Amino acid sequence: MKSSPFDAYFVPTYARSGAPMVRGKGSYLFDADGKKYLDFGTGIAVNALGHGHPAIMKMLKKQGPQLLHASNLYFTRPQIDLAKLLIKHSFGDRVFLCNSGTEAMEAAIKFSRKWATAQSAKKYHVLSFADGFHGRTYGALSATAQKKFHSGFGPMMEGFHYAPLNDIAATTKILKSKPFAAIIIEPIQGESGVNPASTKFLTFLRSYATRHKIALIFDEIQCGMGRTGTLWHYEQRGVRPDLLCAAKPLGGGLPLGAVICREEFVARTIAPGDHGTTFGGNPLACALGCEVVKLVASPAFLAGVRKKGALLKSRLSDLMRIMPDIIKEVRGSGLLIGAEMNDDPKKLIAACRENGLLVIKAEHNTVRFLPPLIVSESEIRKAVAIFKRTLRAMK
Ligand SMILES: *Cc1c(COP(=O)(O)O)cnc(C)c1O
Repeated sequence: MKSSPFDAYFVPTYARSGAPMVRGKGSYLFDADGKKYLDFGTGIAVNALGHGHPAIMKMLKKQGPQLLHASNLYFTRPQIDLAKLLIKHSFGDRVFLCNSGTEAMEAAIKFSRKWATAQSAKKYHVLSFADGFHGRTYGALSATAQKKFHSGFGPMMEGFHYAPLNDIAATTKILKSKPFAAIIIEPIQGESGVNPASTKFLTFLRSYATRHKIALIFDEIQCGMGRTGTLWHYEQRGVRPDLLCAAKPLGGGLPLGAVICREEFVARTIAPGDHGTTFGGNPLACALGCEVVKLVASPAFLAGVRKKGALLKSRLSDLMRIMPDIIKEVRGSGLLIGAEMNDDPKKLIAACRENGLLVIKAEHNTVRFLPPLIVSESEIRKAVAIFKRTLRAMK
């Protein structure tokens, strides 16, 4: 696809093309030319309940006229309800609400450092892993161990260190070299190609962090909130973090992020005034967030995600078997599935869009499938059929 006349208005942070998107319904998006797309990108894992979900629309109409903003100088009902729900459905007993994934990461880093430097002044180091992605503001960016995101924006923050994912020996060596406050990890790396951390590695990090009083932060901004078939991904691994960051689908399409943590652990060292946000946890986003959590946390809903995820993965694996020269590997969990291609899939993804299927590129030649969690089995079959047809036509 060629560049767009609308590019002239924007700082060019994204390579966009095509007609603007104007409407969504269920698993479909519609553009200004009336073209219909099967949305297997869901605005980068945001629209977990698809577009225009009745529960979300109902709450939008109910909360909208009541209260849009009051600030964090006061409590609001929706934020209390959301905090209670997140606590009920997780390991945590304290919640911090913000507006995005990167803000959740910033808060988690600050809470961990405050807690750790209270133990010992030099205990401020932060470890994260190669190819991870944690956001674009300086703390989260410093934790994002990918040179291409740092290039031209240096220096990164002091005290951030990187280790290779799933390499226990190399990670131990780095951990022993400095007093660490926090370890940050995506249990499944999303942006860099749907790469799972091994359960053995997560278990190792858990025990090392416990022994050395280091805060273990799970970035579940992409893999959490039902995406992989359990409400939180950590549930499947038998490893609990000390802090968990959530965002993307949490606000039902509105900006909303959260840090879930424990009082006796990191939250006790935080005092009023230490951290804040004007918009964070605003009533409308939280009201929608409550609907999202209630729906997604239901065991029947999550069982559906696992079943549909298995279907998508097996259909893509079938494709790989008949096109081994094109598809290298299919991996992922639930409805977070990556198909690694032998070549750069940029053109393939553009051709899929032409053919009415939206998918997203991830690193290392991977096509990412992030359908809404409410997707139907027939929509999954349809998406794989479009993908197959597009691959055939490009061959
Ligand atoms: C998207 C993402 C972020 C950043 O979230 P924003 O809301 O874009 O700031 C952080 N971590 C992971 C794993 C993500 O997928």
